[in-house]
Amino acid sequence: MNYKNYINGEWSDKDAWSEVISTGVDSGSFKKMFDNVNPANTTKVIGQFRDSGEPEINYAVECATRAFKTWKNVPAPKRADILFKAAEILVRDKECIAKGMTVEMGKVLAETRGDVQEAIDIAYYAAGAGRRLTGETVPSELENKWSMSAKLPYGVIGMITPWNFPIAIPAWKAFPAIVAGNTVVLKPAEDTPWSVIKLAEVFHEAGLPDGVFNVVTGYGPSAGMPLVKHPKVKVISFTGSSATGRLIAKECSKLGKKYSLELGGKNSITVTENADLDLAVEGVIFGAFGTTGQRCTACSRVIIDKKVKKEFTEKLLAKTESLRIGDGLEDDTDVGPLINKKAIDKVEGYVMRAIERGDYLLAGGHEIEMNSGYFYAPTIFTDIKPDNELAQEEIFGPVVAIIEYNTFDEMMDIVNGTKYGLSAAIYTKDINESFRFMRDVETGLAYVNTSCIGAEVGQNFGGIKDTSPISSREAGNMMFDAVTYNKNMVVDFSGKLQKAQIE
Ligand code: NDP
Repeated sequence: MNYKNYINGEWSDKDAWSEVISTGVDSGSFKKMFDNVNPANTTKVIGQFRDSGEPEINYAVECATRAFKTWKNVPAPKRADILFKAAEILVRDKECIAKGMTVEMGKVLAETRGDVQEAIDIAYYAAGAGRRLTGETVPSELENKWSMSAKLPYGVIGMITPWNFPIAIPAWKAFPAIVAGNTVVLKPAEDTPWSVIKLAEVFHEAGLPDGVFNVVTGYGPSAGMPLVKHPKVKVISFTGSSATGRLIAKECSKLGKKYSLELGGKNSITVTENADLDLAVEGVIFGAFGTTGQRCTACSRVIIDKKVKKEFTEKLLAKTESLRIGDGLEDDTDVGPLINKKAIDKVEGYVMRAIERGDYLLAGGHEIEMNSGYFYAPTIFTDIKPDNELAQEEIFGPVVAIIEYNTFDEMMDIVNGTKYGLSAAIYTKDINESFRFMRDVETGLAYVNTSCIGAEVGQNFGGIKDTSPISSREAGNMMFDAVTYNKNMVVDFSGKLQKAQIE
């Protein structure tokens, strides 16, 4: 199947010149395509998608700029009504989208259902907020003078998203932006264009006006970067790797453009001597091998009290060996494939270097040949030192390093001893220990007695340190921060020139 971009409310197959005439934008590269394949069986092609470039981005931004002029003045509760409709359509189509997403990017069906559910949740959450987009009034220092503020939209927001949460992340970004009155041009990852095209179909059916939400598929450098650099794009909202994030931050800074970044992580689960070890094993399995380890919040370090290391490790190993690897569409699959060959090579590189160094491989450590898919065995290394690359770098695959500790302070140093700061969890029955951990851990997310993953739309999501050098947040009560600015408005009804205090 041949998929098109979604621009200005149309499935855009623009090699025609009509829009060039009306917008003055060249449509030169509108014909290039790329294949999207199923990572569980690479002989299955999902479809061909537009390999877009600057002309398509320019066209989409032009349309979004025009749409903004009217969309910003639609009352926020009316904008929210469309989002409520979108939520209902997502509920209706949840199973179909989830299955398509599993085929597109590999994670098991339970997880892709969760991905769509996150989009549904943020749709309801953001739509509800459409009636609560409040500013504030501030008492003036002068008589007969009124001072108030409002949250207002910027205009066109450029969004660049990764493939591991193909609908949830676009929805977390786009829904608040749209309710707040912005328009959007979104470039999804080249590995998951289908899921975002589905989101466009949902908006189309919900009756979103033309040009408010636009999807342009293509590669990062050729489609993403023109979006970042476009002068009419007021804000860039990006989720992806730290390397790309730094590049985007540099470009935005040069242009004086606002940006929001959600980048990589090196998350940990601490297991203390008084932890419920079975519960902790469940948390590590879910955190380390769910989504085949390809979550920004994935657990890739288990930091364990030496006194319970042996017992915990035996339990973890038994559970890991019982995991079934396969196609995420099959009911009995626990762990699906990695996203692509590059991901296999990256994971294999870390594992091979570790073996060459003599690191202790406890489980996995090899590719699995199955149906021409990108499968890799859940892998555990133990007795890893905190400065080992396995304990420092984001591997983004099913690889976990076990690191032991002797004292609470030593454990906190290990947890905080990476450049990332997204998520960390502790399993403990000691309430004092849990509060010390939550206070001292250098992350945006801290969990007690549950895995280091599990975002909810009511909570702010984001990190510190290299995960988000500007501490951007999404969802929760900060979901409008990236996509609105605060305007202060003053009315003087005294009928005379009143001078505010100047000395
Ligand atoms: P990438 O940074 O490679 O890609 C993310 C997006 O950026 C894709 O759409 C990609 O396009 C695009 N892109 C790549 N290069 C450029 C460029 N030069 N200019 C503009 N856009 C570009 O990350 P991954 O797709 O590999 O995603 C995984 C990463 O995302 C991990 O590091 C993970 O931790 C992080 N992540 C962070 C989250 C958070 O909330 N903190 C949540 C989820 C993931 P294309 O791929 O089409 O080339």
